[in-house]
Amino acid sequence: MLNIVIFGAPGSGKGTQSAKIVEKYGLDHISTGDVLRAEIAKGTELGNTAKALIDHGQLIPDELMVEILASKLDALSGSKGVIFDGFPRTIAQAGALKSMLNERGEDVTAMIELDVPEEELMVRLLKRGEESGRADDNEETIKKRLVVYAEQTAPLKDWYKNDGKHCYIKGSGELDRIFADIVAAIESKI
Ligand code: AMP
Repeated sequence: MLNIVIFGAPGSGKGTQSAKIVEKYGLDHISTGDVLRAEIAKGTELGNTAKALIDHGQLIPDELMVEILASKLDALSGSKGVIFDGFPRTIAQAGALKSMLNERGEDVTAMIELDVPEEELMVRLLKRGEESGRADDNEETIKKRLVVYAEQTAPLKDWYKNDGKHCYIKGSGELDRIFADIVAAIESKI
């Protein structure tokens, strides 16, 4: 199986590039942000817990996220592989993902880091907020999300370097050039 972690700050293009990777490789796509937004839309207890945290730019507790991810993985059958979008976001989640995959005789194939300068992230997210109405794409929440990213999520770059899976991609510029770089990085890890 081809298991890809697509990684980067909010607004780095994870969702956009995931769609292209899914199309090329026929992978299943697990976006934890989409899962949480679906729970919020359904008004479930999990959704209510998530909404309060998401609106403040905070992360959902690891234990809860790991449980959600495990149930999504268990629901797959005959999968060619998975693109993990928005997970892991902490070192604890990265360790849990590795254990979950190892238990299934699998591992992460590649971790693709999309690197985009912070000023550009802010511009992209404010635009997305205007277009999509996503409640957490407002200036105050974006700033908090970027701090949370720097403190809790960015350390995963070194974690995946140590695991031999990290691939650096310049995430600003032409979409097709970024995608071509991603494909080359994936192919180098297969
Ligand atoms: P995203 O759509 O990936 O930007 O996620 C939106 C929000 O959902 C994040 O700002 C977090 O509050 C929450 N979230 C999504 N994935 C995770 C995760 N793996 N761990 C903790 N919180 C998450």
